[in-house]
Amino acid sequence: MADDPVEGFAGLGLRAELLRALTVLGYEEPTPIQREAIPPLVAGHDLVGQAATGTGKTAAFALPVLQVLTGGREDGGPQALVLVPTRELAEQVSQAVHRYGRELGVRVLPVYGGQPIGRQLQALRRGVDVVVGTPGRVLDHIERETLRLGDVRTVVLDEADEMLDMGFAEDIEAILAETPAERQTVLFSATMPPRIDSIARRHLRDPVRITMGRKAVSPDELPLVRQSAYLVARAHRTAALGRILDVEAPTAAIVFCRTREEVDQVTEALNGRGYRAEALHGGMSQDQRDRVMGRLRAGSTELLVATDVAARGLDVEQLTHVINFNVPAAPEAYVHRIGRVGRAGREGCAITLAEPREQRMLKAIERLTGQRITLEKLPTVTDLRARRLELTRAALQSSLETDDLERYRVVLDSLTGEFDVEDIALAAVRLLHEAAGGDADEKEIPSPAPVPDADRSQRGARGKARATESGVTRLFFGIGRQAGVRPQDLVGAIAGESGISAREIGAIQITDRFSLVEVPASAADAIILAMRRSTIRGRRPTVRRERFTPR
Ligand code: AMP
Repeated sequence: MADDPVEGFAGLGLRAELLRALTVLGYEEPTPIQREAIPPLVAGHDLVGQAATGTGKTAAFALPVLQVLTGGREDGGPQALVLVPTRELAEQVSQAVHRYGRELGVRVLPVYGGQPIGRQLQALRRGVDVVVGTPGRVLDHIERETLRLGDVRTVVLDEADEMLDMGFAEDIEAILAETPAERQTVLFSATMPPRIDSIARRHLRDPVRITMGRKAVSPDELPLVRQSAYLVARAHRTAALGRILDVEAPTAAIVFCRTREEVDQVTEALNGRGYRAEALHGGMSQDQRDRVMGRLRAGSTELLVATDVAARGLDVEQLTHVINFNVPAAPEAYVHRIGRVGRAGREGCAITLAEPREQRMLKAIERLTGQRITLEKLPTVTDLRARRLELTRAALQSSLETDDLERYRVVLDSLTGEFDVEDIALAAVRLLHEAAGGDADEKEIPSPAPVPDADRSQRGARGKARATESGVTRLFFGIGRQAGVRPQDLVGAIAGESGISAREIGAIQITDRFSLVEVPASAADAIILAMRRSTIRGRRPTVRRERFTPR
C-alpha cells in the first residue's frame, strides 16, 4: 500500500498520464468515493453519487472524464460538460481538471456569469475539451450559438441540490436537451431530495448509485476524545493551525493532511513557527518512518505531520492531540484518525479545521459516530496572550514544586542588595515568557460565518422563516423584469460572486425596474462590494441597501 503510492489508483484502471499527475500532486490513495465511482464511470455507466465537498468527488468524476479524452483535436466542440452552481466551484473544478489533465494537454474553460463574455468567446472559438460552467451562462452561450454540445460524451451535474436551490432546474433541462442522447450522465449531490431523484430518473440511464458513510460506528469503537472543529477559510488554514497549537500546547500531536505536498508545506510552516515538526508520508521508506517515530517517542519531536496511509497502525502512547488539517474524505477515516489518541482510557483531543463548505461533512461524521463535534471560535490574539501567560505561570509553578533551586541562589543574592525581590521575580518571569515565544506579533485570523442549516436534507421555500431568525437586510438591485431578470440570475450572481451560499439568500421580489433581495445582514456589505465587479444579464446595476419598503 504505502510503498507504491498510486497502486490504489492504478487498480482503478486509470491511464498512466493520470497516475503520474496524481503522484506529482501527492495523492497516496483514492478516497472511498473515488474507489467506488471511478471504475463504473470508466466503464461508461451513468452514476448518482451522494457526496459533499471534501470527499474527493471532483477527482471521482474528473479522472474518468479525462481517461477517455482524445487529445490533439483541432476542431469539434467540448467532449465533457460539468455544470456547477457557483463561480467559485467553476474555478475550483476547472483547476482540478487542468491539474489532473496536465500531461494530456487538456483544454478546460470555466464559464460563469459576471466574467466578461469576450474572453470566453475567444477561448471557445479556439476550441476546448472540457467546459465547466454555471447553468445560466452555459445556456447563454448555447443561445448565442457560441457553444455547441453535439460532441459531448459526458455531462456532470455537480452539487445538483445546490443548483436546484438556486432555481436552475429549467436551465439544466434545457442544457441537457442540447446534448446527445447517448451521452454519459453523472450526478453528484450532498443531499438526495425527491427533486434530485426525479432528475436522475428522467435523465440518467440505469445509473450506479453510491452513498457514503451510512454505517454507524458502535460506541466501543470510539475512543474517549474531546472533539471540536474550527471553521476557517482555506487561505487562513495554516495560520489557524499555528494559533490552535499555540493555545492547546500539546505534549505530542499528529496533524493529518490529505496529500504529501500538503504534508511538506505544513511541516515547513510549523518548523518556521518554532515547532519541532516532522513529516511522515507514504513516500518514505520504513526505515525513515521508524526513525521519525523514534524521535517522537523520545520527545525530540513534538509534532508529526502525516497522511492517512503513513499513520496507519501507528501507536504512540504520548499522543495527546489529533489535528485534522482538513476534513477527512470519509467519516470512517475520521474515526480511524481519532483512534490514535484517547487510548486505554486516557483522554485526548481531536480538532478539525474545516472550510465553511465542509460543514456538511462534519454533520455526516457526527451521524456516523453519534457524538458531537463542538464548533469553536478561533482563539483571538487576546486569548493567545492569556494562554501564554498561563503557560508561563504553570511552568514556574512546576519548577517551584519540583526543581532544586538552590544552585541559583547566588544569582538572587547578588541582586537583592540592589533590587527588590519582587522586581527580580518579575524580571525572571519576563525572561522565561520571552524565551518561550513571548507575545510575538500576532494578527487576528478572520472566522467565516457558519453556513446555516447545513444539515437540512430538504430545501423548503426560500427565505421567510430564516429571515426572521437572524439579522436580515434587504438589498435593492436596479434591474428588474424589463431587463429579463429571473430569481436564479440574482441568486447566481450573489452566491457566485460573494461566496455566500444560495441557501442564505432569502425572499426575492422582482418588479419591472428593480428587484429586492433578502440577505444576511452580516453579508450585506460584502455582497454590495462584490456586485460592483459583476454583471447580471449583461448589465451592472446599482446595488445598495433598500431605503424604503415599496408595497
Ligand atoms: P473535493 O471533495 O472534490 O472538493 O476534494 C477535496 C480535496 O481533497 C481537494 O483539495 C482535493 O485536491 C483533495 N483530494 C481529492 N482526492 C484526493 C486523494 N485521493 N488524496 C488526497 N487528496 C485528495
